[in-house]
Amino acid sequence: MTPVLDIDDLRITYHGSRGPIPAVRGVSLTLDPGETLGLAGESGCGKSTLAAAVLRLLPPGTEVTGRILLDGEDVLTMGWGRLRAVRWARASIVFQGAMHSLNPVQRIVRQIAEPIVLHEGVERAAAEDRAVELMAAVGLPAWRAKSYPHELSGGQRQRVMIAMALACSPDLIIADEATTALDVMIQAQVLRLLKSLVAERSIALVMISHDLSVLTDTCERLAVMYAGRLVEYGPAHEVFTTARHPYSEGLAGAFPTVGDTAARRRPRGLPGDPPDPAALPGGCPFHPRCPVALDACATTDVTLLDVRPGWRAACLRVPATKEADV
Ligand code: ADP
Ligand code: MG
Repeated sequence: MTPVLDIDDLRITYHGSRGPIPAVRGVSLTLDPGETLGLAGESGCGKSTLAAAVLRLLPPGTEVTGRILLDGEDVLTMGWGRLRAVRWARASIVFQGAMHSLNPVQRIVRQIAEPIVLHEGVERAAAEDRAVELMAAVGLPAWRAKSYPHELSGGQRQRVMIAMALACSPDLIIADEATTALDVMIQAQVLRLLKSLVAERSIALVMISHDLSVLTDTCERLAVMYAGRLVEYGPAHEVFTTARHPYSEGLAGAFPTVGDTAARRRPRGLPGDPPDPAALPGGCPFHPRCPVALDACATTDVTLLDVRPGWRAACLRVPATKEADV
């Protein structure tokens, strides 16, 4: 079976006025057809950079090395024509702020129909019929077809974005903080909807959030990112409840109260901030914040170690916790 997404040793460096910013530093992961993966981590850890790279949406001048295969096809060497065909039709992204992604002066039915017209060469009227079906699938009434984005609520606009992402039946949807700006109840509704839509259609999903509990509810596997690397990667429920990396554990304990927006922005169990990618500490990048760091953590650059097949964590303590299990 060809994975939908196969990322190998991906490294992404922005070149800003302050010099190089290594935002992604050697990430590898694969996603099988229909599989759901939650990508977690605080702001600045490189999640959006990774997502943007999958569809080559990074700013010009950004250095990208490694390999990204989408349905077996190399994204990094694709020509622009092929890339345009692949966007929407193979993989689509739902971003956080629908208001910035939607055209304010175009009726929503037309916007949902747009990728269908462009990518499938369907007549506009037929594409708009399909757009209305997609609206029904995401829980928007047909009379909303003629609405403009500003006439919709935030949750409804995110539903429009999801309808657009589904429009050309992609194999992969990446949802980058797609519901973070929404009220918690609406967020839960939209996530449940997204989860059922991808399951019905066997679409693979990468859901990005800083909230591990949200990801655990929605995804089969979790990847936790810190300072541009994966620090833990494994079955969602187990990583959430018995994290092997102290950073994942901190994130898991960070959002105790549903509806507590202050806690969502400022993780409780995690004092301090992630490091500036332009000035990373030596050794494990988490060691300055780690409540259980050993002396060796300041000097040892830890790579992912097997907790057991299908579950890995980049922590020097992993062999010890493994033995404790036996
Ligand atoms: P996340 O999505 O996890 O919050 P990002 O991928 O947005 O993280 O950012 C990772 C790092 O890359 C941050 O330090 C951010 O400041 C930096 N960064 C993001 N976009 C750019 C850019 N266009 N130019 C320079 N640096 C950037
Ligand atoms: Mg982001």
